[in-house]
Amino acid sequence: MDDGVTTAGDGVYGEVIDAAGRHARAWLSGVGERPIPPHATPDEIKDRLGRVLPDGGEPDLEVITRLAETVEPGLIAIGSPRFYGWVIGGTQPVALGADWLVSAWDQNAGLRTITPGAIAVEELAATWLLDLLGLPPESDVGFTTGATMAQFSCMAAARNEVLRRAGRDVEAEGLTGAPRVRYIAGEERHGTVDLAARYLGLGGPITVPADEQGRIRVEQLRAVLASGSGPAIVALQAGNIHSGAFDDFAAAIEVAHAAGAWVHVDGAFGLWAAASPRLRPLTVGFEHADSWSTDAHKTLNVPYDCGIAIVRDPAAMRRALGMHASYLQATDVGADPHENVPELSRRARGVPTWAVLRSLGRDGVARLVDGLADAARGIADGLGELAGVEVLNEVVFTQVCIALETDEATAALSERLWNEGEVLAMTSHWHGRTVVRFSVSNWRTDATEVRRTVAAVARALAASDPAEAPPAD
Ligand SMILES: *Cc1c(COP(=O)(O)O)cnc(C)c1O
Repeated sequence: MDDGVTTAGDGVYGEVIDAAGRHARAWLSGVGERPIPPHATPDEIKDRLGRVLPDGGEPDLEVITRLAETVEPGLIAIGSPRFYGWVIGGTQPVALGADWLVSAWDQNAGLRTITPGAIAVEELAATWLLDLLGLPPESDVGFTTGATMAQFSCMAAARNEVLRRAGRDVEAEGLTGAPRVRYIAGEERHGTVDLAARYLGLGGPITVPADEQGRIRVEQLRAVLASGSGPAIVALQAGNIHSGAFDDFAAAIEVAHAAGAWVHVDGAFGLWAAASPRLRPLTVGFEHADSWSTDAHKTLNVPYDCGIAIVRDPAAMRRALGMHASYLQATDVGADPHENVPELSRRARGVPTWAVLRSLGRDGVARLVDGLADAARGIADGLGELAGVEVLNEVVFTQVCIALETDEATAALSERLWNEGEVLAMTSHWHGRTVVRFSVSNWRTDATEVRRTVAAVARALAASDPAEAPPAD
């Protein structure tokens, strides 16, 4: 097909990117069927790559071939539709293609007047995202490396704003001698929210008990807020990594706002429920929060690295993260993108997000999110029928947590799955038990893959009990 591209004059790049493309195609064509775990250690790979920096170097083509061929045994098939190890996500073809263009263009996507093409694409993606997720259209959006840095960006705005309301100008005066900001979160928050708080000098969380699905208990949140005073940030959660549960946003946000707190929502994978008419009820009320963080590299299935920071009050975001320098050619037209993220220079990492949204459209994003939830439901139903397997969570979204009778048996199941290589699901600890967690986050996990997954678990269970080995089929 003629795609209108002429390649005359690509001499210095052509051979190398063609070779990289061939290796990429080989990897991608096998990623769904190869054994999922890696089968080499970093030291083995280093030995094979060669540890000594050569004096004379090596031709580019040989470097690319050496890299692709040597590293391959050390790669884990995260793109497999039966990879459930963590909430991680694969890559949609259109996102990969767009990502390659981003690398080829090599735009520094921080400045509106300097790289208008990249910024136009990212700003459209941002506007579409707010629309899809039902978040306030006046919000500012920053494309970060991941949800951890998205949380950091949002909570930087939060910290400075709650202190500004308490009479402290953090940008000018810093934190020393400022009132303590109470960072309050449910006991089943994701660990990276604490990490963001720590980077920001907020210290550890004041934790609020959670219910049996891991949702923050709103009455206890009210009590915690009332038991202290001064500036506060409350972190809520859309998508618990064990149960997939969503906090009761409407109630929790009302309580937090009544106490003057800033509310942040960690929705690294769960925020996307709002893009599905069927699943949107899980997020009811979340739009009243002050900031939200999510990942495109998880549920949306773009390549690493892409997190998204969303702050309702653009001025708060820019005061916390922006900077001014005479050489930066700032404009009055709107914020420069570097004012919404921690970095000054960065790649145009929002472009693959635009490409996926353009490719799927509103309905396609809903189908993607529904498909992940359907697969989780299918896995829970299938595994729940296997003797000895207990599904521990209410499967409302993409997470399924199972356990066998003893912790040892549960851990052994995960190990057997790893050794067989067709399904990867890791152990975790939840509510005092060892669990095996299935996080569905790959766009290719369909009903067929669900059947293969259940069959693999059945095989692994039978392997521990030779008397019950199923007949080969
Ligand atoms: C993955 C995850 C994060 C951190 O995201 P990164 O992209 O790894 O930085 C935060 N919160 C939740 C709920 C997550 O699942």
